[in-house]
Amino acid sequence: MTYSLGAKSRAKLQGVDPRLVAVVERAIQITAVDFMVVEGVRPPERQKQLYAQGRTVPGKVVTWTLKSKHIEGKAVDLLPAPYDWKDPAKFALVNKAMMQAAGELGAGVRWGRDWDGDGIIGEKGETDGPHWELT
Ligand SMILES: [Zn+2]
Repeated sequence: MTYSLGAKSRAKLQGVDPRLVAVVERAIQITAVDFMVVEGVRPPERQKQLYAQGRTVPGKVVTWTLKSKHIEGKAVDLLPAPYDWKDPAKFALVNKAMMQAAGELGAGVRWGRDWDGDGIIGEKGETDGPHWELT
């Protein structure tokens, strides 16, 4: 089974660093699980809103920084299909494809659930399963 990026995913990659776009485009060719791009470039105002969530406005904390790499187009959020946020195994499959693609293309990419890239998921409490960024 091979997958391809849909129109919505391609639109979300607008403005993202071409090195990261190339990794995502290679990853969709080799992934064992389909995925979609749910967020690429994030305007600073949106980051501020997300940062406020769980701090000064109600909700669950979803980010720990005001300086997300999304702002500069150096991060993407990918969601495996079928879309179950609570299925970590599927995110790990997406990560496998992303790491293989990054290796092939010589791009430094890290995953939000394995920040130091040692293959041990969540060892430091990393919880950002849908997040990949250029290092
Ligand atoms: Zn993200």
